[in-house]
Amino acid sequence: MITSRRQTVFASLDQPQAWPATRGRPQPERLDLGLDALPGVGITLKRKLAKLGLDTVRDLLEHRPRRYESAADEVAIAALGGSTEEVVIVGEVLNVAKRPLRGRRTLVTARVSDGTVPVTATWFNQPWVADQLKPGVRVRLRGKPGKYGFDVKSYDVGEGEATADFAPVYPASEEITPKRLRTLVAHALGHVVDYFDPLPAELRDREAMPLKRDALFVIHHPASEHEAETGRQRLAFEELLLLQIGIARRAAERERTLAPSLGAPGELIERYRKTLPFSLTPYQEQAVREIDADLERTIPMQRLLQGDVGSGKTVVALYALLRAVEHGRQGALMAPTETLAEQHFLTIEGICAELGVTCALLTSASPKKTRAAALGADVVVGTHALIQEGVELRDLAVAVVDEQHRFGVEQRKALTQGRAPHVLHMTATPIPRTLALTVYGDLAVSEIAKPPADRKPIITSWIDEGRASEAYERLTRLLREGRQAYVVCPLVEASETTLARAAEDEAERLRRAELRDFRVGCLHGRLKPDVRRAVMADFNAGELDVLVATTVIEVGVDVSNATVMIVQEADRFGLAQLHQLRGRVGRGAEQSYCLLVSRTKEELTETAQQRLESLVATTDGFKLAEVDLDLRGGGQLLGTRQHGATDLHFAHIRNDRQLLERARTVSLELVSAPGPLQDAVDVLFAETDPGALA
Ligand code: ADP
Ligand code: MG
Repeated sequence: MITSRRQTVFASLDQPQAWPATRGRPQPERLDLGLDALPGVGITLKRKLAKLGLDTVRDLLEHRPRRYESAADEVAIAALGGSTEEVVIVGEVLNVAKRPLRGRRTLVTARVSDGTVPVTATWFNQPWVADQLKPGVRVRLRGKPGKYGFDVKSYDVGEGEATADFAPVYPASEEITPKRLRTLVAHALGHVVDYFDPLPAELRDREAMPLKRDALFVIHHPASEHEAETGRQRLAFEELLLLQIGIARRAAERERTLAPSLGAPGELIERYRKTLPFSLTPYQEQAVREIDADLERTIPMQRLLQGDVGSGKTVVALYALLRAVEHGRQGALMAPTETLAEQHFLTIEGICAELGVTCALLTSASPKKTRAAALGADVVVGTHALIQEGVELRDLAVAVVDEQHRFGVEQRKALTQGRAPHVLHMTATPIPRTLALTVYGDLAVSEIAKPPADRKPIITSWIDEGRASEAYERLTRLLREGRQAYVVCPLVEASETTLARAAEDEAERLRRAELRDFRVGCLHGRLKPDVRRAVMADFNAGELDVLVATTVIEVGVDVSNATVMIVQEADRFGLAQLHQLRGRVGRGAEQSYCLLVSRTKEELTETAQQRLESLVATTDGFKLAEVDLDLRGGGQLLGTRQHGATDLHFAHIRNDRQLLERARTVSLELVSAPGPLQDAVDVLFAETDPGALA
């Protein structure tokens, strides 16, 4: 995780100017004390905190409040009425109940009385609350009257203090009660003075940024919303600055690396163009020109090819790969998963064969023997992992990295050799411009802004489960007209095997019910590659009418006669994922439809509603990407939960545009200008290798 690395860096910076002499030498190691150093933290609590990722005093200090509450009036339950303001009620728990709602949601209810009348307090999707409440305990609940009773927004168990103004509210958790956490943070704040400030005083002054320790103090203890925001911005600035410095450094490294110059396009490319059943669109031509210009140079290409689903990126990607091949070198196409690698392989092997270019698929299942042969092919298709981890390609000149959200990984190995392939990053999840600037700051961007002509925008509807039969009626009507269809099975948080079984069962059910008159195939991640290939070939050839599938169809399946898709339990999918799925239809001249089926609106969380509403409202991937970023709070870039560096705790990519611009400017200054800031940069550079940001 980059956070801890960065902190090590910062702790090692000696900046006495940041410290009033009276405080003496700072002792940064105290921040790394385990939480059991705090009063009242024993083994059990320590373990619970660890589950939240809170191990040290530092972790606790950097635990960001989700929001702040201004003081709310305390009212008697009898006086609640239909209050639309948040209020506080204080009372005794009479009984507690927990019940499941549909879709693995839960509702905890507690009868609470303050001696006037009892009220039913409700908590959605926080099943653990039931264990924190016992009959007879006193609770302090903040919320307002809602659909099922008193809808609790935050709560204290036991004798709570009156609501402070601008009290921090931390993310709700099973492990620890809100009050307990607040107490711990208060203890941890005793150590906040131990923070070194990584930002040089000069820079802080100029940017009017408070000290880091002050910033940390005020996010937990603000006197006003404004003060909390000032603190957050200071911390966000530091995060963004680090990210930008990493990017600037990578760009500088790239300048020192060599890639083969591939000259101008030749005969193979000419044949490729003739093989295609269409001519490239102006956007594709533009992308291809930009790629050609990059490939001619010996500085490795680092280009992002972005364009919405179905905009025709694959054609451009293959172009880039063939540019390597026509120089007797190799091209590699890297996909994030084996399934996607296989699908890419299926898409391009035919064209390659036609051109007399050898093309091989490399998966973890490839036996040693065929692996050696695969590594020698003109075009190698595999997963990021396979191609990066130690396999020796014959002579890689161009790498296309599909859906590469992890930035810079592929360079790691190549850079150590002082040589790097040209890299084209391809993404079908359009990246909002702000985001591109942040994370992909040193990439040149080619954009396919419009799909090939004659496409009609997909018509998307959102349909209640109760009326699902209408969705199937529409689907079967289109099937009778000779179209094909997809039915996407619900996303369950379970193994690939469970998903596969669910898809098989659903296909079987549909064969007997709604789709009994049609030929129904099933596609999921547990099928053997040859079986999967056969299913896709059948669907391609029109020998199957419907494909019941898991999200394996998300990218890669390309049948223009498939014009309708039903997504079951659509609320379970992420926005980007639904957009990707929807992109499987609308690939030809026919009008296409996407039918999102979910529980009723009232049963969905607000963000789920917003996701589905925005999908109905637009097919523009860029707009959806922005919405997605908003809904996810901008902390996680592109939903890449697993990558530490891109998880910004304090920065909000979308709202912090200005801060980002400032960080960008400062980072360039820090990298290029010698001066007092240079030491800081050196230390940062030494500690942030490209992998650290990957
Ligand atoms: P993406 O990879 O961006 O999702 P694809 O490259 O898979 O898009 O292209 C989507 C569909 O459009 C494919 O069926 C492809 O053959 C077709 N296509 C691509 N370029 C053109 C073009 N210039 N004219 C007509 N059809 C095209
Ligand atoms: Mg594609």
